Amino acid sequence: MARPASHRKSGPLATPIAQTSTFSFASSADLKRYLQGEAGDDGELFLYSRYANPTVRELEDTLASLEGAERALAFSSGMAALSTAMVSLVKPGEEVLAGASLYGGTSKLLRNILGPFGVTSRFLSLDDLGRLDQFVTPRSKLLVFESPTNPQVDVIDIEAVCAQARKHGLVILFDNTFASPVLQQPLSLGVDIVMHSLTKSLAGHSDVVAGALAGQADLIERVHRTAKILGGCLDPHAAFLTLRGIKSVHVRVERACRNALALARALESHPKLEEVRYPGLPSHPGHEVARRQMKAFGSMICVTVRGGLTAAERVFDRLGIFERAASLGGVESLATLPVHTSHFGLTETQLAEARVAPGMIRLSVGIEDEDDLISDLQAALD
Ligand code: PLP
Repeated sequence: MARPASHRKSGPLATPIAQTSTFSFASSADLKRYLQGEAGDDGELFLYSRYANPTVRELEDTLASLEGAERALAFSSGMAALSTAMVSLVKPGEEVLAGASLYGGTSKLLRNILGPFGVTSRFLSLDDLGRLDQFVTPRSKLLVFESPTNPQVDVIDIEAVCAQARKHGLVILFDNTFASPVLQQPLSLGVDIVMHSLTKSLAGHSDVVAGALAGQADLIERVHRTAKILGGCLDPHAAFLTLRGIKSVHVRVERACRNALALARALESHPKLEEVRYPGLPSHPGHEVARRQMKAFGSMICVTVRGGLTAAERVFDRLGIFERAASLGGVESLATLPVHTSHFGLTETQLAEARVAPGMIRLSVGIEDEDDLISDLQAALD
């Protein structure tokens, strides 16, 4: 996309890294301009890198433009983004409604951190999200969900869920990490704040931990006030690496989606697999919704090996190209056993609620050669 003439500038092509904790002012007049908000956190003057930083700002502006948001805010991790958003948007005595299929860290944040501070959470199955009206109480303030979900890549009709939530005045926080803004822009479907673990496909090279929120300026400003105190700010060097990753995100995501579709098709009828879940397969219950709300079907596949955890561990240990590593969305293909990673430590009931089976292997498909990836899985399953 060409830059509008008003945004053109002479100078370095790559974003300079403003590796500084603090900023000096030419005069007390400038300091006053900053303090009075004329040139402050959104303007050209900076006070302290926990509040705002030029390299981080460049990343935030890029993310806002990718998500079609008024404003974005970067954090030191996806979890810092989520926790700061939640602490800013709910108070003790209030309730969060959440999708039951959520990243493990998000459900632990709700249960183990916000719970003891008096914020209750109610976890809703896919079907229950479809009839949200029945679960909203006067205490409900925030709705948190993601699609495709982690790890079983369920697809939720974002527009339909948001339409119900809006009737009740809930603030809607949506984790867009799995899809990335290349595949879907949830703000255009009714979401208030989009969250990203930038660690994943946006940075894309497994060398950065970072997070972000994007949405309406007033909501993001509310979160920024809290963020300045909680302190989960992103380091400028990590912001630079993330910006560099974003330059190729469209090409990487497109290739990874193509690889994932080919791999899912090749595995679909494998006798050693109980299930292959991929939104691009017509057998996936969310296939039609995914066709409507996503540009392609993503790079995440969830397979369930017949024979439970022992059988899944055998396949996992025999993988050659897929690395056994947590995380997703990078250029390398990765495999995880959800019961040993994202959902480790959950009780059997919580696992059942999140529909995580012991034989599940989650595959994050990278940008390697398609045939090599298919052969790798087939050899591990033999
Ligand atoms: N949301 C999803 C869907 C994730 O997969 C993750 C991390 O795996 C997070 C949030 C948390 O992000 P981070 O690890 O950057 O804190």
